[in-house]
Amino acid sequence: AKKEGRRRARTFDPAMLLVLEQRELLRRSLRVALQHKEFFLEYQPLVDRCRTVTGFEALLRWRHPRLGVIPPIAFIPMAEADGLMSEIGQWVLEEACRAALNWPDHYTVAVNLSPAEFLTVGFTDRVSQTLDLVGFPAERLELEITETVLLERTTNNLDTLNTLNVLGIQISLDDFGTEYSSLSYLKNFPFDNIKIDKYFINDLLDDEKSQTIVRSIISLSHGLDMRVTAEGVETAEQASWLLAEGCDRLQGYFLSPPLHVDRLGSFIRHGKKA
Ligand code: C2E
Ligand code: CA
Ligand code: CA
Ligand code: CA
Repeated sequence: AKKEGRRRARTFDPAMLLVLEQRELLRRSLRVALQHKEFFLEYQPLVDRCRTVTGFEALLRWRHPRLGVIPPIAFIPMAEADGLMSEIGQWVLEEACRAALNWPDHYTVAVNLSPAEFLTVGFTDRVSQTLDLVGFPAERLELEITETVLLERTTNNLDTLNTLNVLGIQISLDDFGTEYSSLSYLKNFPFDNIKIDKYFINDLLDDEKSQTIVRSIISLSHGLDMRVTAEGVETAEQASWLLAEGCDRLQGYFLSPPLHVDRLGSFIRHGKKA
């Protein structure tokens, strides 16, 4: 009995219980966050080789009434696990397209998809209905997916991506190189764009291995007719190196952090670029 008591004491560690309680509280407030309009999007500019802004990536934030702004890594996994991510993702898509209607008409908006969303039955129908509803052209929407999505149900995934492609939506493979990178994805799926994860950009100028990997990703992508975006570009040196190596688009704190929708002014230039 004594032994059992000790074991139970270890299992019900009060500190652990507190963490669990907080998690449960967060989980409960997450369920009503959508109705309470606590989510908002920030937008981070992307630039092309001429350093001209081509559009923005929408990034989700949660303004918790008591805890303040919570970053996506702190709640998206929970939302996924609770089956809320499909609904939240639908909100993100509509909100981002509406915001983008106010931008110059050659700007794109990139929206991140969670696996749960992408795998929802009727996902492509919902995307095209949203575009119709908002009146936003498919060509200006870029959907970013990660490799984890592609691990399951491969034939359906291919159908989904092909449908999005036929609609004219641009498809980006996000976080390339960090997960289960399989080159067969690049061969079989209709990606328009590869995003090199900031993990490889971070130490780019000090690490020859990162340089070799980034060069290879660029040449591989171009060989397959895809464009390459580097994320997490923080310095002028990184930007110059990447452009010299042929990278097509840059994104990162060097250009701008993600911004509130009302703060995009200096990145918005009306009139088509020359
Ligand atoms: P991600 O799609 O790879 O987005 C890039 C992340 O890097 C963002 O973090 C961005 O704020 C951050 N970042 C941008 N420039 C720099 C830089 O120069 N240096 C560094 N160190 N970081 C930079 P954030 O906004 O916290 O988002 C984290 C992840 O959460 C995203 O990674 C994406 O996977 C996910 N996420 C964000 N919004 C959404 C969404 O609406 N739906 C889904 N499903 N996932 C989202
Ligand atoms: Ca992304
Ligand atoms: Ca395409
Ligand atoms: Ca990333």
